[in-house]
Amino acid sequence: MISWDIDSSWTLFLDRDGVINKRIMGGYVTCIEEFQFEDSVPEAIAQLSSIFSHLFVVTNQQGIAKGVMSESNLLEIHRYMIKEIEKMNGRISKCYYAPELKNDPFSTRKPQPTMGLKAKEEFPAISFEKSIMVGDTDSDILFGKNLGMKTVRIKTEEPVNTEADYTFNSLIEFSKHIFL
Ligand SMILES: [Mg+2]
Repeated sequence: MISWDIDSSWTLFLDRDGVINKRIMGGYVTCIEEFQFEDSVPEAIAQLSSIFSHLFVVTNQQGIAKGVMSESNLLEIHRYMIKEIEKMNGRISKCYYAPELKNDPFSTRKPQPTMGLKAKEEFPAISFEKSIMVGDTDSDILFGKNLGMKTVRIKTEEPVNTEADYTFNSLIEFSKHIFL
């Protein structure tokens, strides 16, 4: 049972790979053909869209800096993802992505708070105390904690060093617990 008193003034931040779509271990989703939703994710996002005013995607995509894909490949993947989600009546307000390499000193990657601060600049109604970050890796959970958000981990084979407030097996399981 989730103890937070969630209403439409809350904001949801979602990691992409491993939460929304199947992660390619040791690689990158470089085109639509490689983008595969995790089970029941469009349905889960539709449910979540009925309570949260805004849902944002925050994703590290260093495949761009590595030259494995271009920024326009990524934007095309995100347009496809949003279109599929909208078919189920879900909404994503905006996708933020960090294209830099992990070791770039000016990186905007999670766990740096940059993408969250950018969202707050563009959507000033966001309150981080009334925000939840959902992710499958330590960098997601640390990103949420760095901004004072609540945190939810989606369990994968990824080793866990930073505990989240709650852990679920999937986004749909998280969504069901909100509506319990
Ligand atoms: Mg992930």
